[in-house]
Amino acid sequence: MEEKGLILGGGGNSIASAPVFGYLGAAFAPPGRLARNPMAVPKKKVSKSRRNMRRAHHALKAASYVECSNCGEMKRPHHLCPACGHYDGREVVASAAETA
Ligand SMILES: [Zn+2]
Repeated sequence: MEEKGLILGGGGNSIASAPVFGYLGAAFAPPGRLARNPMAVPKKKVSKSRRNMRRAHHALKAASYVECSNCGEMKRPHHLCPACGHYDGREVVASAAETA
């Protein structure tokens, strides 16, 4: 597994498998564990269960719509009405019908 050693920069002899990390480690890293492997590496594989539990909150919610108080078209709340250009009871943008 020579390739794995190159990517992780870890293993036993870091200088032989990853010359870049070996050089940086010797120059900047403090002595001890970081000198051998400056890169953060997960200690354990994340199981399918843990991965799926983490992603339990990632589902998208359906966009909500409200009726425009001016023209009655459906629009997103707190957004300009794309049909009539009204917001908060006044015309902010000239509507397409008036411009054309
Ligand atoms: Zn409207």
